Amino acid sequence: MAFLHFDESMKIIKDLEISNYKISKRYLTETLDYVLAEDIVADHNSPEYPTSAMDGYAIKYKDLKLGRLKISSINPAGSDLTESVVSGECIKTFTGSLMPDGADTLIPIENVTVEGSEIVINQEVPFGFSVRAIGENYAQDEKLIAKGSKIDFADIGVMASLNVVSPLVYEKPKVAILSTGSELLELGESQTSAAQIRSSNNYILEAIVKKYDGEPLQLGCISDDKESILQGVKDALHQSDIVVTTGGVSVGDFDFVKDVIVELGCEVLFKGVRVKPGQHIMVAKKDDKFIIGLPGFAYSATVTALLYVVPLIAKLQQGRCSLRRVEATLREPFNKRQKKAEFTACNLILENGNYYVDFQGKKSGTSAILTNMLGSTALLITSEDDISKDRGDKVQVLLLD
Ligand code: AMP
Ligand code: MG
Repeated sequence: MAFLHFDESMKIIKDLEISNYKISKRYLTETLDYVLAEDIVADHNSPEYPTSAMDGYAIKYKDLKLGRLKISSINPAGSDLTESVVSGECIKTFTGSLMPDGADTLIPIENVTVEGSEIVINQEVPFGFSVRAIGENYAQDEKLIAKGSKIDFADIGVMASLNVVSPLVYEKPKVAILSTGSELLELGESQTSAAQIRSSNNYILEAIVKKYDGEPLQLGCISDDKESILQGVKDALHQSDIVVTTGGVSVGDFDFVKDVIVELGCEVLFKGVRVKPGQHIMVAKKDDKFIIGLPGFAYSATVTALLYVVPLIAKLQQGRCSLRRVEATLREPFNKRQKKAEFTACNLILENGNYYVDFQGKKSGTSAILTNMLGSTALLITSEDDISKDRGDKVQVLLLD
């Protein structure tokens, strides 16, 4: 299989047909960051009746000219008042109280002096002052939140006001994570040989999946043994919607992941992309599940997870990928070395509303340099047709926050 153009690989992910979206009802307070699977439509007006927006006295506007009104009753919020306001009188009314019948205006406490059982009006207000009209907040049958929206705090508040106890949401895709490599040590495991290295990939992936709205299933590390990897990926497929592996997709003698994916009867969507880092990435489909074989180097695994795993997680819940591209200005030249799409760690600086990038403190070397992702890092994007860039040139960067 020839290596694909990076844009073509992105298009394959974008155009994937998903046959089985998983939806379920979730208790409202547990839905933050989930994607709505239904439109939220108001079933009533808010407010349903004219309501006071301040503490004061409910009056007839035309009575303002009388200058002095008798207080006939008191109307706290939550009470079902039966009295109405008649000419020459007012009813003490509070923020959130329904306006009494007969009243059209609220004169605030600050505008009057109370003398015995009367108020004296010191400062007039316009007609309808401080009366919240029916439907001010929303009207019956108005679509307030569209299906496909990612639920944020305001959505939760609006749904609470509509008494939507358990909205219908897309389930977060379950993402099984497996790192392959006989040299790998898990967190806390004792080192017994100088040839061992600490695995970081499976922990980075767990964090990426959590951050970008998947549900991680951490399956740890497996050694480079074909049978173990076959069994591991098979088990992972049973328990998840997406299986993400790292390592073993390259061309080495012990790179078994690529063979296992084929042996499992998966449909390979692509293997090998003209992208740096991560050119050996492999994406496959097994029924309605996906396997993404990421390369082993930590920087490569991280970048390719952001490029391929994050959009797939969004796609399985009809959501939008949360990574954004913005334009920035280079503060240093960028040397384009290979004819591939490149994603280069850079420092992102926001000054007076404009983004700038530089490479201060970023090391050059292999794709093992994960520390290049620390700090306020973004990824400078260049396409395979781009040439080297100069200081001051405008570039595209992928934001990671
Ligand atoms: P591979 O793709 O399996 O050939 O691995 C490429 C490089 O990435 C090797 O130097 C591995 O030691 C390293 N590597 C593989 N898996 C991990 C991991 N889980 N965490 C950190 N580095 C890894
Ligand atoms: Mg390996």
